Amino acid sequence: MGLTLTGVGVSRGIAIGNAYLLQPEAPEIIEYALPEHLVADEVTRFKAALDTARQQLSAIRKQIPRGTPADIAAFIETHVLMLEDSALTDAPVKLIKTQRCNAEWALKQQRDILVSVFEAMDDPYLRTRKDDVDHVVNRIQRILLNQPAHPLEFSDDRLKGVIIVTGDISPADLLLMQHQGVAAFITEAGGPTSHTTILARSLGIPAIIGVAHARRNIPPGSRLIMDGQQGTVLVDSDAKSMRYFRSKQREDKRHLAALSRFKKQPAVTRDGWSITLRANVELPEDTQAIKRTAAAGVGLYRTEFLFMNRPNIPDEEEQLRAYVSIARAARGAPVTIRTLDLGADKMPGGRQQIAPSTTHSALGLRAIRLCLKEPSLFRPQLRAILRASAYGRVRMMIPMLSSLPELLQVLQLVQDVKNELKGQGLKYNENMRVGAMIEVPAAALIAESLARHLDFLSIGTNDLIQYTLATDRTNEAVNYIYDPLHPAVLRLIDMTLRAGRDIGIPVAMCGEMAGDVRYTRLLLGMGLNEFSMHPSMLLEIKSIIHSSRLTELTKMARKVLKCSDAEEIRMLIGKINAIEM
Ligand code: PEP
Ligand code: MG
Repeated sequence: MGLTLTGVGVSRGIAIGNAYLLQPEAPEIIEYALPEHLVADEVTRFKAALDTARQQLSAIRKQIPRGTPADIAAFIETHVLMLEDSALTDAPVKLIKTQRCNAEWALKQQRDILVSVFEAMDDPYLRTRKDDVDHVVNRIQRILLNQPAHPLEFSDDRLKGVIIVTGDISPADLLLMQHQGVAAFITEAGGPTSHTTILARSLGIPAIIGVAHARRNIPPGSRLIMDGQQGTVLVDSDAKSMRYFRSKQREDKRHLAALSRFKKQPAVTRDGWSITLRANVELPEDTQAIKRTAAAGVGLYRTEFLFMNRPNIPDEEEQLRAYVSIARAARGAPVTIRTLDLGADKMPGGRQQIAPSTTHSALGLRAIRLCLKEPSLFRPQLRAILRASAYGRVRMMIPMLSSLPELLQVLQLVQDVKNELKGQGLKYNENMRVGAMIEVPAAALIAESLARHLDFLSIGTNDLIQYTLATDRTNEAVNYIYDPLHPAVLRLIDMTLRAGRDIGIPVAMCGEMAGDVRYTRLLLGMGLNEFSMHPSMLLEIKSIIHSSRLTELTKMARKVLKCSDAEEIRMLIGKINAIEM
């Protein structure tokens, strides 16, 4: 009987292969003092290492084949830009000069300063950006220490079919892995919203993160079986498990192939109710997924991704190009552009400008609150979204709304921008739809009064659950409290759906719950008829819709909503999901 390890499954799929252990990227750094006359040489040595790092990255960039998702290139670009950033170029030079220390040590000190800034951030996405700093710094350190290139940069096929086991993986490394035919990867570190895991999902590479002491427990070359959905790794397991997982692998392939038949079919329940399924996208170029799954447009476009992987802010024209390109790709289907969901510390414009502060907690100056405080950030985005509305069915969506005055202020601003555009003779759609996310309990409780001023609502369950249950969605210690089936959460969802029905505007859901097969039937029964999710889940959710009868589910959901015990609810949902309809 072999060993079983567990982590967080972040990219589904079963992989079977030999373990390839990638040793820690971060080399050991020691400090030594320099005599005055060698300081200038040390600065030259550091600058030469920067040049070599740039050459290495540009070589990787050249390897990107045509058709590679644009987000991959964007990640490489982030690292290239970081090599031009004064935080990594000038600051270490200053340290070498003032402290008369070696380049490696100066770089390490600067790395620690940058990483502490990122670690103080509340947004899980931005917090994982410290990984980018580490990846770039480690590359320069390896060059300074004359260490060989990373194994992933060798050009042979020793990595074909292996399962990489390592501390952490950069997006650039993941790209190289894909080229070399790596079957899957397991890391000890990383967050479910890191660039690497987002990429793994879009590249379809099974992945598990957060496997404690993976490199200590997995011998090099051992036979691994991993389930990227369950987050389990079997080390040198017996023939019986191997047979089981091989057949599960075949079954998964058949299942996915069978799902493709739903692509051309409308999302309709067995008793004839039509349901709308849309895609969540992060980058404007990420439109392949809309086509691949035949999604009915975009239910959530997270625009902050456009602002974050770079040292400067995209101006109105650049944003316009991005929004128009996605509107065109949607070919007449709605594209829901969410206004910036950044926090006070998440100001774009370069890492060195990010001030460490505690005012940007999940309860702080974030999303629409920040936008209303910073018109210089918000107005160009409003102008770009409105101008893009002349080119397709663009809709605007406000995140983290918590009060009516806040909404009225946004709507006034939209009106002002419309007048401004009109005055300038610029085209826009006068009737562009404006909606809001319901992700704060207060907003759900006053959904009816908000709905009177809006064209649609969309429930953001990721935050709604976090705020309702007062449980940080990024904090492992309170993960057990985070529960989509908590009766309070279900009641707030129900309240929002009712508000939409009463006022006569559509209510969608774009949080993770909408793409989770365990909740599809319940949500259908509660009256949700517009789901927006990660595109990889769309056909699976459609298959559940096809096997469900809304009239029966409505009765069942009513019963669920009467329960005040999450465990009882879970049991009922289990039964609802098992029924043949
Ligand atoms: C949500 O909160 O459910 C949501 C979709 O927004 P995000 O995950 O980007 O915070
Ligand atoms: Mg949210």
